[in-house]
Amino acid sequence: MPHFRLGVRQKVLLVLLSVLLTALTASGWLAFREEKASLLKELNQRGSYISRFVAQSLSSSVASYDDHTIQPLLDELTSSVDIDYAKVSNVNGNLLGESGRVDVNQMTGTDLMMFTNDIISDGDIIGVLHLGLNTRYVTVRLENQKFALFKREVLLILLIAFGGFFALSYIIVRPVDKLTDYLRHNVNEEGQLVGEIPVISNDEFGQLAQQFNIMGKQLNEANKKLHSKIESADRRMLETNQQLKQLNDEFRLLSITDPLTGLFNRRHFDALMKTELNMSSRHGDPNSILLIDIDYFKAINDTYGHYVGDTVLKALTRALKKNLRHTDAICRLGGEEFAVLCKRADPDGARELAEKLRKIVEITPMAPETDDELMITISIGVASVARNTKNNTKTTPEQLYKDVDAALYYSKNHGRNRVTHVNELYRENKR
Ligand code: GH3
Ligand code: MG
Ligand code: MG
Repeated sequence: MPHFRLGVRQKVLLVLLSVLLTALTASGWLAFREEKASLLKELNQRGSYISRFVAQSLSSSVASYDDHTIQPLLDELTSSVDIDYAKVSNVNGNLLGESGRVDVNQMTGTDLMMFTNDIISDGDIIGVLHLGLNTRYVTVRLENQKFALFKREVLLILLIAFGGFFALSYIIVRPVDKLTDYLRHNVNEEGQLVGEIPVISNDEFGQLAQQFNIMGKQLNEANKKLHSKIESADRRMLETNQQLKQLNDEFRLLSITDPLTGLFNRRHFDALMKTELNMSSRHGDPNSILLIDIDYFKAINDTYGHYVGDTVLKALTRALKKNLRHTDAICRLGGEEFAVLCKRADPDGARELAEKLRKIVEITPMAPETDDELMITISIGVASVARNTKNNTKTTPEQLYKDVDAALYYSKNHGRNRVTHVNELYRENKR
């Protein structure tokens, strides 16, 4: 259903029309009533006067029972425009003459005004005169007046209504329209008021426009301040967020890093082992682990001091990293013990890699800044998760650690500076 709405102009017009209609109808009705009363009064006076005059003129004729003069007189009377009925009777009620409308006795006097006058002769009542005056012309006159009144009323209503309407329109609706129009067209996407309302008059609307302009400026100012505050708060939040993220990243890295060498720490290495072994058991890829321990490291500490010992640990880290693939995860388990997780390396490959590392370390000076050519050796144990262990019993990290530890132990006990794969131990045990 379309939404029907009355504008201010329509409302003003409606109010004007209804007020005028009510006021003029009431005043018209009162004027009409007064007019009717005065006309009837006038008619009454005239009727009384005529009937009195006729009764006097008839007194001698009635006294002498001269009905030859009575009847023509009555006929003459009723031939006039406004006398419709005339009747004369004597004191005994005998009819002496009657003229005019014969239906008068049945009539209830709707358009007749009846006058009754005694006919008097020498102080005695000798008869009665009945005279009927018609009120038709009063009705006609009133009708005419009613129509004239109506015409005047309509004209007045139209004049006042439209005059008032245009005046009010100009004085009230036009400034309001201007205000509304301005507000509708002068707010930009950011909700700011642009431009000013032209102050067109000096009255309340002019003041309203001025107030609007002042308010608009204040609103714009507040809006601007708010925006800049929001922006700076946004910026700060973004910065804080970034810092937090950075801190979080740093913290995470710290929590998985060994502070001396920068390698992964044991905790992270355990987690890596777990995921890698799971992957291996799912995809059937081989995986190997090397356990590296510096030989006689205590002696280095004892001879050169702890600081040099640390330097050696860092130098070894560099040498190992340099010779490993970037997919190999290397970690310092603690002290002078390191572990390398070689992804997709089978026992032979892992053993070969361990041997290569052992040889490189053997010939690499570990503290170039000292005068002594500080050389070390390492012992390595190796253990592997065989290829295609799918559906076989899963190798656990604990099992692998146990194996690789045994292999390292074997290297240590068989001269150090040596590589042992745990498979060799099994083979030896079988023999
Ligand atoms: P082996 O050949 O049997 O491995 O003998 P080793 O002396 O290397 O082994 P041992 O376990 O007897 O000694 C390890 C030494 O490593 C003991 C300790 O002083 C040293 N160490 C452990 N952590 C650190 C460290 O962070 N910095 C330094 N400088 N030394 C460390
Ligand atoms: Mg050692
Ligand atoms: Mg040790």
